[in-house]
Amino acid sequence: MIKSKAEELGFFLCGITRAEPMDEEARRLEAWLNKGHHGEMAYLANNFDLRVDPTKLVPGSKSVISLAYNYFNSDTRSSPEAPKISMYAYGRDYHKVVRKKMEQLLSFIRTSFGEVGGRVFVDSAPVLERDLARRAGLGWIGKNTMLIHPRKGSFFFLGELITDLELMYDSPMTDYCGTCTRCIDACPTEAIDKNGYIMDGSKCISYLTIELKNEIPQEFKGKMENWIFGCDICQQVCPWNRFSEPHSEPQFLPSGEWLHMTQEEWSDLTEDAFTRLFEGSAVKRAKYEGLKRNIRFLEE
Ligand code: SF4
Ligand code: SF4
Repeated sequence: MIKSKAEELGFFLCGITRAEPMDEEARRLEAWLNKGHHGEMAYLANNFDLRVDPTKLVPGSKSVISLAYNYFNSDTRSSPEAPKISMYAYGRDYHKVVRKKMEQLLSFIRTSFGEVGGRVFVDSAPVLERDLARRAGLGWIGKNTMLIHPRKGSFFFLGELITDLELMYDSPMTDYCGTCTRCIDACPTEAIDKNGYIMDGSKCISYLTIELKNEIPQEFKGKMENWIFGCDICQQVCPWNRFSEPHSEPQFLPSGEWLHMTQEEWSDLTEDAFTRLFEGSAVKRAKYEGLKRNIRFLEE
């Protein structure tokens, strides 16, 4: 019933895993943090105990319902030479869109099963979203560190509903990366470990263009491949994304205007235009000054 309702609400994957301490993931996260791969994202080191154990985050919880929401768009920009924005930020900020649908799912569960405790999360708390989704059988974590489903690819958002309901659990999926190294070879900043599965976040273009508050280090000059907000390269080259189909969420359609901007128009972007073009979009996270810094970094 829960999975059918999730599908009806537009989620294209839904799996369920037991809420329990995630010991193996905790060890990997600790090693990753110790290497400083989180860069300036200090919040990733906060609330470590909650992050690696959903039963601490939501006391009394028994199950994690993991959900995926498609955001794959075709690239319909008029000028291929113009600065690029990651596909996930094309439309309305997904946090709001996906959260609303997850709240509807929680309401449905309460209507169907009575008094049920539960909380919804969409990139909104210390939650190991990808690891929980892997445990719930939504896909495997590839060498590019993205969650990949063999028929759906990896262009989707994740959300979790953590509940005190006891449910039937799914099993993790096999890793189908095999001998492929396309993502590792294609990453322009060498952010992915040469053996895959580990990402140095502090070298990733997504971090450099969105999370980093200071100037972008000179070592990345000439390596940004025209990205000014996020980067999709290691997903675009992944063979499993050849099955990706465009989403059918009207709220994720890009506002037409910026798609047709030329290189010159991006260079001349004013604060008023930024506010208007990216109203309600995740691009706002970079703020006007941040986006201008990213555009300048391509030009200088
Ligand atoms: S998002 Fe871009 S910069 Fe980051 S790891 Fe993937 S290819 Fe490299
Ligand atoms: S590009 Fe190849 S190695 Fe990288 S995640 Fe996809 S299948 Fe795995």
